[in-house]
Amino acid sequence: MNNRNIPEETKRLVRQDCFFGCVLCGAPIFEYDHIEEFHIVNKHEISNLALLCPNHHREKTSGRLSSDRVKNGRQNPFNKGREHASPWHIEPGRNRIVEFGSNIASGLDGDGDYRVIWINGRNYFVQHSENGWVTFSAAITTIDGEILLLIDRGELKSPVNIWDIKYQGTNLKIRVAPTEIILDMDFSNEKIRINHGFFVDERDKSGLYIKDKKIIAAFKGIERGTCEGGFAMGNQGGVFGLASDQSFMENRPYGFAFFYGP
Ligand SMILES: [Zn+2]
Repeated sequence: MNNRNIPEETKRLVRQDCFFGCVLCGAPIFEYDHIEEFHIVNKHEISNLALLCPNHHREKTSGRLSSDRVKNGRQNPFNKGREHASPWHIEPGRNRIVEFGSNIASGLDGDGDYRVIWINGRNYFVQHSENGWVTFSAAITTIDGEILLLIDRGELKSPVNIWDIKYQGTNLKIRVAPTEIILDMDFSNEKIRINHGFFVDERDKSGLYIKDKKIIAAFKGIERGTCEGGFAMGNQGGVFGLASDQSFMENRPYGFAFFYGP
């Protein structure tokens, strides 16, 4: 096998084996690491693949982190120890809770995709449930809609030049510069809370800004509405949506708190 792309089914099994986080620190954003380098083994064997967060992956690539430590982590992943502990252990069928600043929403029983942020026909934040464990996909943007970070079921997809990730307890912070946070969120199986992040459609600069405990709806770059202390229950399909004109309303998912404008 010469293909450098890891098959999706292999990735799914690796995620499952690694308990959906970096095997060394549990971070929910990761890359797939070939423990023995790919150019040596030249195949994608499940047992030779581990999830590593960008920090640990960088250490491994630069040689500061040994293959043996990753191998040990692969056998005894960090998140495995959390499996039966709150807030990681969730009774099946329990509602998903998503908080945006001071706004709370809950809904969707059991397995499936929960579309947390939907803008102009596109998903910007989706919560997935895999084997009772939560993962997420997201597009984090600038205020102008330029994509800074693309995440697919936890896998870091986009090349980001300057950034750092800090993962403590359940809090994840991603910076593009020492003082510039592009994503601040609390993440566990129990709930997701986004404290800071921008989700903007680059086509017309409409989207949602989450900052200072508020959700701000922007249409064509202009802030038009704010939501603070909102509460929504029983959402089946998703949480927050925004459509900047009628043409986007057609495939609007059911169950959103919704901004429509301008
Ligand atoms: Zn890590």
